[in-house]
Amino acid sequence: MAVPKKRTGKSAQGHRRANWKGSVPETTICTNCGATILTHTVCTECGTYKGKQVSKKASKPENKAE
Ligand SMILES: [Zn+2]
Repeated sequence: MAVPKKRTGKSAQGHRRANWKGSVPETTICTNCGATILTHTVCTECGTYKGKQVSKKASKPENKAE
């Protein structure tokens, strides 16, 4: 197994971590209900994808169905 020859200094560590940035997730608007959703995912509000119903989640979001 590879073992580091030298300890990474605080400066090098800081330089490395300076380029570690968070990214904003890509979102779009659902064509069926207009909710803001993640791209290439089924709408969590109405259960449609590309205009087709793919999930049994009806237009009314009822969580206590059972
Ligand atoms: Zn929707």
